[in-house]
Amino acid sequence: MPLKTSNFSDSLNRRAFCVIPRRAVGFLRPIFFLLITSSAFAQTSSHPGTSTFDGQSWWNYVKVLADDNMEGRDTGSEGLKRAEAFIVDELKADRLQPAGTNSYYQPVKLIARRTLENDSSLALFHDGKSEPLSFEADAYFSNRFSQAPKVDAQLVFVGWGLDIPEKGYSDLQGADLKGKVAVLLYGGSPSEIPGPLSAHYNAMRQRWKALKNAGAIGMIFIFNPHSMDIPWERLKMLRTQVGMAPADETLDDAAGIKLGVAFNPANADKLFAGSGHTFQEISDLAKARKALPQFPLKVEIRARVKMDVQPLESSNIVAKLDGNDPKLKQSCIVMSAHIDHLGIGEPINGDKIYNGAMDNGSGSAMLLDFARFIKENRPTFKRSVIFLWITGEEKGLLGSRYFAEHPTVPASSIIANINTDMFLPIISLQVVTVYGISESDLGEWAAKVAKQHGIEAQDDPKPQRNSFIRSDQYSFICKGVPAVAMGVGCKPDTPQQKTIDEWLHNRYHAPSDDTRQPVNLETAGKFEALLWDLLAFTANSERTPEWKPQSFFKRFAQH
Ligand SMILES: [Zn+2]
Repeated sequence: MPLKTSNFSDSLNRRAFCVIPRRAVGFLRPIFFLLITSSAFAQTSSHPGTSTFDGQSWWNYVKVLADDNMEGRDTGSEGLKRAEAFIVDELKADRLQPAGTNSYYQPVKLIARRTLENDSSLALFHDGKSEPLSFEADAYFSNRFSQAPKVDAQLVFVGWGLDIPEKGYSDLQGADLKGKVAVLLYGGSPSEIPGPLSAHYNAMRQRWKALKNAGAIGMIFIFNPHSMDIPWERLKMLRTQVGMAPADETLDDAAGIKLGVAFNPANADKLFAGSGHTFQEISDLAKARKALPQFPLKVEIRARVKMDVQPLESSNIVAKLDGNDPKLKQSCIVMSAHIDHLGIGEPINGDKIYNGAMDNGSGSAMLLDFARFIKENRPTFKRSVIFLWITGEEKGLLGSRYFAEHPTVPASSIIANINTDMFLPIISLQVVTVYGISESDLGEWAAKVAKQHGIEAQDDPKPQRNSFIRSDQYSFICKGVPAVAMGVGCKPDTPQQKTIDEWLHNRYHAPSDDTRQPVNLETAGKFEALLWDLLAFTANSERTPEWKPQSFFKRFAQH
């Protein structure tokens, strides 16, 4: 999902290398011709062997996972099952040990929800009149939430909708929210709030908890026009996607919510009518990342909704490489990537398959390429490594949340999580973004390894996008496990930045995130090599990575 991605070029000797095609699902038999590069890299890393990541074998895996046959890998879909079957076949061939509950699989029970819009309506009520809202133009029910069939409620605007005790900051303080619906600007925080803290409190888990404690029964979130990746024109198409929640309600971050509605910022003035405020005023403050006002709105919400609700099962995939140190092998590093994507949806330019090549065929393929590398080079580490392909990320980090609650290895044995989600090798690699760089030893190690590769490591340049909590590492962070997520980075106001921004605007969560898009294989290969070395370093480290003493996230540490 969020952006994130590598270099080593000192090749000593090169030889052509042909890998015998592995058993794949019937229709897919990738044959990979690889150029193995033995590099000087081995000098800076603590594992024996060679780095052989040129991006090509990685891309071949992406092509399989993002093939139209996989139908966009929606959680619980037949397409995702086919993609997972392909991964399992590869793992068997690569002789990584199964470490799920059912061989390589860890089933996850979910609930799927979809708004039946023909039987549903949203309206604003003011001055004795009802003003219907259009699902296309104004606002829609988010399928992520369990909506109550009928909600008539007063509205209170609560700015960013954040409650951050550490900073003595609260948008909710003094607000009369009892039995009311909170209206908030979604995505971001005032500039005084550090990125990770902002990210943490923007997460649904914290946000809804604070609103619920304040008495709110629901929320209407207006997308922050200054941090929106996806324009409304595409969001409104994505709204018909099935939403999901954990079958185990204790894991549902939005349990008890009665109304969850997304609002188009372009039409948000409808909410502010008669309040003495305009959305322009709010938007200008938000752009400057200032505190936002809090005030009751003059309009009320009238919501009627009918939802189709179905039980659903999907699976994580878990494989293990045992460590070789009698003591350290009891601990493990979880290397993760989500395998699910959005499936089949509203067509754009006649294409209805949301292939998810970058999001997150790219991360999933990298893990597969690591498995290939292990088979070919037989590297061993002191600690064990868990390779985890996660389901339900797009639906709200559901698979990783489940794994973190029900790990298939002892919870206390998990010492680190390295996650990769949509690392975007679409520009040359000079900078790598490390989400969580200042939070733990792992962040520091990531920066160190990047430096060895001649690549600059930077912190999240856009903290208002909340990337630190927007992918699966967050489920581990909340369990106290030091984690990083990494991707290809760039400097602000550069052509590279423009390329990334355009990608987000046009291809992110769109059918055009497919294998026909431009990709930089050199960057992909370098990024893989960098992550491999971070994994190797961590897995061979006698030291267990710790949270930094000043890190906000240290509080979740179990020891
Ligand atoms: Zn995504």
